[in-house]
Amino acid sequence: MKKVPLRFVMLGPPASGKGTQGRKLAEHLGAEYLSTGAQLRREVASGSELGKQADVYLSNNDYVPDSLAVLLVESWLQTHQGSWVLDGFPRRLSQAEFLCSEPEFSENLQAIHLKVPVEELRRRVAGRQECTICHRSLGLEPTVCPDCGGELMERHDDTDEGFESRYQWFESETFPVLDYFASRDMLIEVDGKGSVDEVWARIEKEIF
Ligand code: AMP
Repeated sequence: MKKVPLRFVMLGPPASGKGTQGRKLAEHLGAEYLSTGAQLRREVASGSELGKQADVYLSNNDYVPDSLAVLLVESWLQTHQGSWVLDGFPRRLSQAEFLCSEPEFSENLQAIHLKVPVEELRRRVAGRQECTICHRSLGLEPTVCPDCGGELMERHDDTDEGFESRYQWFESETFPVLDYFASRDMLIEVDGKGSVDEVWARIEKEIF
């Protein structure tokens, strides 16, 4: 019998825990995981054509155009046809429409929205760093990545200005995506406050 693939998208403002919880979810499901933000940073670092085009948007804390984000996700989806978790996509209504226009992608698709008050997001952004190799997000205490031993660095966009700009993009562009999934009964709202384990326990309760 064909195993039905499970698909999740992680939605939420910057530092809401999309990456941390999305990776955990993928691990529990035995699913593939893609962070569009981390992949875009990899492309920039590698100097690829896509990276060169994305660089100016990332440097300005703007969302990249669909011509880059959708292209990246579309080619990834073509080679990942089982269960998956997308972190940071869709971020615009047009991207949600792209995902749901293909029954092959939207089969068993659910969106998880991590809700975190803005004061807590500001605190988290000021207290995190990211692995330069596997792009796992961590607090300020570790000196190397506990997963892969990679060097840790603060993200270029985790400044006060970078956060405020990205938060505004979330409100103007991604809020409609929440409504889109809610109106299709595909949205799971999760309280994203508190520790990683507390949030994970809420996600587990919702979906397992
Ligand atoms: P993140 O690592 O998810 O915080 O994403 C970092 C940055 O990558 C965002 O601030 C955007 O500039 C860009 N980005 C990531 N995913 C998308 C997307 N789906 N659409 C447009 N821009 C994106």
